[in-house]
Amino acid sequence: MNGKTKKLVALDKRHLWHPFTQMKDWNTSTPLVIERGQGNCLIDTEGKKYLDGAASLWTNVHGHRKKEIDAAIKKQLGLIAHSTLLGLANVPSVLLADKLVEIAPKGLTKVFFSDDGSTAVEVALKMSYQYWEQTRKKNTKQRFIAFTGAYHGDTLGGMSVGEIDVFVEKYRPLLFKNLRGPYPYCYRCPVKKTYPSCSLACLDSFERIVKKHHKELAACIIEPGFEGASGMIVAPKGFLKGVREITKKYGIHLIADEVAAGFGRTGRMFACEAEGVNPNFMCLAKGLTGGYLPLAATLTTDKVYRAFLGRYDEFRAFFHGHTYTGNPLGCAAGLANLETFKKEKILENLKPKIKLLAALLEKFKSLRHLGDVRQIGLVAGVELVEDKKTKKSFPAAMRLGHRVCMEARKHGLIIRPLGDTIVIMPPLSIKETELKKMMRVVYGCIRELTE
Ligand SMILES: *Cc1c(COP(=O)(O)O)cnc(C)c1O
Repeated sequence: MNGKTKKLVALDKRHLWHPFTQMKDWNTSTPLVIERGQGNCLIDTEGKKYLDGAASLWTNVHGHRKKEIDAAIKKQLGLIAHSTLLGLANVPSVLLADKLVEIAPKGLTKVFFSDDGSTAVEVALKMSYQYWEQTRKKNTKQRFIAFTGAYHGDTLGGMSVGEIDVFVEKYRPLLFKNLRGPYPYCYRCPVKKTYPSCSLACLDSFERIVKKHHKELAACIIEPGFEGASGMIVAPKGFLKGVREITKKYGIHLIADEVAAGFGRTGRMFACEAEGVNPNFMCLAKGLTGGYLPLAATLTTDKVYRAFLGRYDEFRAFFHGHTYTGNPLGCAAGLANLETFKKEKILENLKPKIKLLAALLEKFKSLRHLGDVRQIGLVAGVELVEDKKTKKSFPAAMRLGHRVCMEARKHGLIIRPLGDTIVIMPPLSIKETELKKMMRVVYGCIRELTE
């Protein structure tokens, strides 16, 4: 370790509190300090290069130091870094809102900017709730329905609709109560059947709950395509469409949380597209700026928007906003991100990479401790279990997933697990040779530690 790294690591351990991290373990570890990025790689203060196999926590789209995005931010910096949307408009936020509406599912015509996935979700929940409050004489629609295994962020509203025990259980007394439908294949799905009956059984079960409670329900929130944080749980074809039909039939909003799925991850610009679903709300964040800056957006319909119009002293406005809402630098990055999608035909060029990933995952099926392997688009989860037959997990204290990822670092690959599920989530710009290398390293590290 060189002097600079040593000093930074010491200061980090003295003052920094890392997210989702047991700091006792962190403080006895040897952390990497990232200093630079180039293409699909991260470079640390020792000058060592790593493939960014987690796309910097699922955000990066076109690689690091992408010329066009760098240039767009620099150009904006030459004009202004930040100006508020409270009482003023700014150039890049107007232009980005227009572009987002152009590519969004039909009907989503209004854009509300915030900072993170969690805030995009809070905005959707509050807007849906307020919509019903302002359109009904005696409103009873004050609850939400979400799915088993869902993740919608770490703020109190996002946690309330989320359901990953280790993340939310301690906070339960602070959270509002929701109804919950089964997400097919989800690790705690009460239906426990196999495809395609699992999907149908889940939809049946979902419809029964909605039918019984729709008068109390404002909205249903779902991760379209796949549930990310619960381990890349891929929904069977038709499930999202079924959920949309049921929510429509019983008059409740559908909130599509595309924070992880949006911007090409599933092979489409948005996962909703694959099933022709037009939600009432769509939440965007992670890939919105190409993974450059914290910016989020909640899209909704004219109909929802109109319910907030009125005389000033009726107080029907949406009383919500974040200080950096519509930040010009973030919006400039977002615009360059979308231009890059178009100019470089990213979605078309993704197809062979998605096929290649599927082919490379075949080999994993022979692993002695493979529980399941799941893929949609350019994202996959490789789940490890102690017993392949009974699917019994490894003891949590073993931290197998974590150890596999630490081993991968020795081979120049940064990845992050979700429990004992190894997450494959590279930038969309990953080259085929890099993807091959990545999967070779993951396979080798799993074998090394389990066989
Ligand atoms: C990451 C994520 C969030 C939360 O986003 P933050 O930017 O971390 O607040 C919400 N929903 C989904 C589906 C996510 O993957």
